[in-house]
Amino acid sequence: MKLHIDWTACQRRGLCTELVPEVLDSDPWGFPLARDGSREPAIRPELKAHAERAVRLCPTLALRLRG
Ligand code: SF4
Repeated sequence: MKLHIDWTACQRRGLCTELVPEVLDSDPWGFPLARDGSREPAIRPELKAHAERAVRLCPTLALRLRG
């Protein structure tokens, strides 16, 4: 499972980086950045519930889980 981030929709609220800090960090402008350096970070099974919560709560619907 991978987390897709639509940076054109992101409003840099930082919520996702708080909900899945194991996967996401913030860049200097507040956009979420994958800690593994990929465009679509892999979500480990134990983090799936947290990632789903981030998708649900993102205020601009900029996150999606694939796979
Ligand atoms: S929760 Fe959504 S709007 Fe906020 S930083 Fe993450 S992707 Fe951007």
